[in-house]
Amino acid sequence: MIPQSTAQVEPLSLIKYTSLPEDWRTQLREAYRTPQALLTALGFSNAQQKALLADDQGFTTLVPKAFVQKMQPQDPKDPLLLQVLPQSLEAIHHPEFNNDPLQEAQFNPVPGVVHKYKGRALLIAAGHCAINCRYCFRRHYPYNEQKLARTQWQQSLSYIEQHPDIEEIILSGGDPLALTDPQLFSLIEAIEGIAHIKRLRIHSRLPIVLPQRITLELCQRLERSRLTCVMVVHANHANELAADVAQACDRLHQHKVKLLNQSVLLAQVNDNLTSLKHLSERLFEIGVMPYYLHLPDHVAGTTHFFVSLARSQSIVAQMQACMSGYLVPKLVREEPGKLSKTLYSPR
Ligand SMILES: *Cc1c(COP(=O)(O)O)cnc(C)c1O
Ligand code: SF4
Repeated sequence: MIPQSTAQVEPLSLIKYTSLPEDWRTQLREAYRTPQALLTALGFSNAQQKALLADDQGFTTLVPKAFVQKMQPQDPKDPLLLQVLPQSLEAIHHPEFNNDPLQEAQFNPVPGVVHKYKGRALLIAAGHCAINCRYCFRRHYPYNEQKLARTQWQQSLSYIEQHPDIEEIILSGGDPLALTDPQLFSLIEAIEGIAHIKRLRIHSRLPIVLPQRITLELCQRLERSRLTCVMVVHANHANELAADVAQACDRLHQHKVKLLNQSVLLAQVNDNLTSLKHLSERLFEIGVMPYYLHLPDHVAGTTHFFVSLARSQSIVAQMQACMSGYLVPKLVREEPGKLSKTLYSPR
């Protein structure tokens, strides 16, 4: 776990950018915040809801309508619903599944920075997300207990300043695009001010779950940056990639933002050749290159999503046997104490 993080990040300067109330923020306010609301929206009867409802294990439900619209009504096995609905299986405890599988704490030189790999550093830009994914490896993260004050932001940035070997800043979280434009733009401006930074990478699930977030202002700001901008979106299933998401990706593309995707391999959601093939093909169609396929982390409460390494490798081997090489994502796992993510060959 990263011990220090942020709930609402204090912007460095709010003065330069004033923005009108944005539609995506209204949409975020109107997101479903209880399993009951979510299941009602999907047309489940009271009796069906009773059978499906489970304790959320302290990780609240949060799902924007744009994501729910892509679910099949009244289908308890819908691959998008399974990603966000608390299940009774979350109560299963296993000794190998814990709250800090990545031991990130030891790579946390200053609050808000994870510097684990050479040449790039991860900045925890936001402490919240627009969706709460049940498989999330940061689901136990005490975001709400820790607010990163302005002085701590400066501490993160000065750590980066003092490490000229860092060429790329990765904005992560939480979800960096859960910040407002003024907050995000001030942060980008501060990063641009550090001479040795060449690339800005944004890891975000918002282009997928709340595509309205990809405003013209955001795209123009990224295009105007002296930094090369990469956005790593996070889609797990082709059903997530409807026309609104395609439009958001197209807009980013038109503003010179390079687009990659990372997925998590999740039992019942996408752990088969057909799902992953469709996902890669659809991603490519909308201008996004498959990048990583993550093995699920051993996070407490997520045993029901687990796919074994052997089966994961076999699924990727099946992909490789029938698809263009550039459509096959790299199968990886994040492990403590390595020089990079661990790469697994298809077999
Ligand atoms: C995944 C990750 C990165 C980025 O790794 P790439 O292989 O460059 O995508 C950087 N820092 C941390 C802590 C990470 O977990
Ligand atoms: S968007 Fe990412 S960080 Fe946020 S809950 Fe989902 S998986 Fe976790």
